[in-house]
Amino acid sequence: MRCQTCNPGPGKFEAEPVETFLAFRAWLSGAADEEGTDWAFVRFPLTLDADDIADARDAGYCASCIDAAGHGLYGIGLEISEGGFVYGYPFKTRAEYESAVTYLRWCEARAEREEA
Ligand SMILES: [Zn+2]
Repeated sequence: MRCQTCNPGPGKFEAEPVETFLAFRAWLSGAADEEGTDWAFVRFPLTLDADDIADARDAGYCASCIDAAGHGLYGIGLEISEGGFVYGYPFKTRAEYESAVTYLRWCEARAEREEA
């Protein structure tokens, strides 16, 4: 269920849970598990520093959601849309996560073949 206290946006994280915001930061700082041009996968738990927490608060996320970020999840897939919005797809299990990574790798390989 979506938190009624968090209020991210408007902007690239509009309507996204705190996991999307924090995992995107982790991606930018080189902590992605797998990455392509406009997508990445980040495993939980995330290691948050004071800046991560402060910036998440500034972005409109509430303290309890920041505290609980990633609990019960194995990881998250991130996608940057053409409009610059960031979308998150959380995965509860390692199997779900890994099959999504495999699928994205396959899509990239196919796109490369089509370009060749
Ligand atoms: Zn919240």
